[in-house]
Amino acid sequence: MARYTGSVCRLCRREATKLFLKGDRCFSEKCAVVRRNYPPGQHGQGRTRFSDYGMQLREKQKVKRMYGLLEKQFRSTFDRAVRMKGRAGENLLILLEQRLDNVVYRMGFATSRAEARQLVRHGHLLVNGRKAGTPSMVVHPGWKVGLREKSKKVERVSAALETLEGRSVPQWLEIDKEAFEGTVKQAPVREDITLPIEEQLIVELYS
Ligand code: SF4
Repeated sequence: MARYTGSVCRLCRREATKLFLKGDRCFSEKCAVVRRNYPPGQHGQGRTRFSDYGMQLREKQKVKRMYGLLEKQFRSTFDRAVRMKGRAGENLLILLEQRLDNVVYRMGFATSRAEARQLVRHGHLLVNGRKAGTPSMVVHPGWKVGLREKSKKVERVSAALETLEGRSVPQWLEIDKEAFEGTVKQAPVREDITLPIEEQLIVELYS
């Protein structure tokens, strides 16, 4: 399946929640969920009733779109979560949070996960001092994530860091804005993920 290239705001409207896919715009009055809080399309304003399966599917789509994954990547992350100790749903969210592109976004080097993914792919990031170009890399406690020396001049990174106050850094991460570097203090726990997600529905869908 090819990557979705249409309007990302339609995805938020479909899931009836903010997925934070467009950077600063998501925090403004211009957000499409604020302005048109109904599903997109000709019948968007009609009544929508979901079956159990429909609710499970929507929850999976919501999380998958939030983190910008394709179905195959999402499913393999879920399979990995199942093999780990503990609850599969929680493990899934924790694995998604620990992805390098998400960590770059959470540290404030980018205003959206898509932008963070592009920074990683374009070779702007260092993990523990070594160049890292894989957005799906899982970042572990104690690891350092920072910008390469020449990448510190990238304007959109500075602009993203300037607006960081509006998007708080989670407590499992630490960021040194002057050094363009952050540290993963500890692995995230479920309580650190404040997004409105019912992960149990995803587990039921895949079961
Ligand atoms: Fe979603 Fe952001 Fe668009 Fe709002 S502005 S609908 S949160 S992508």
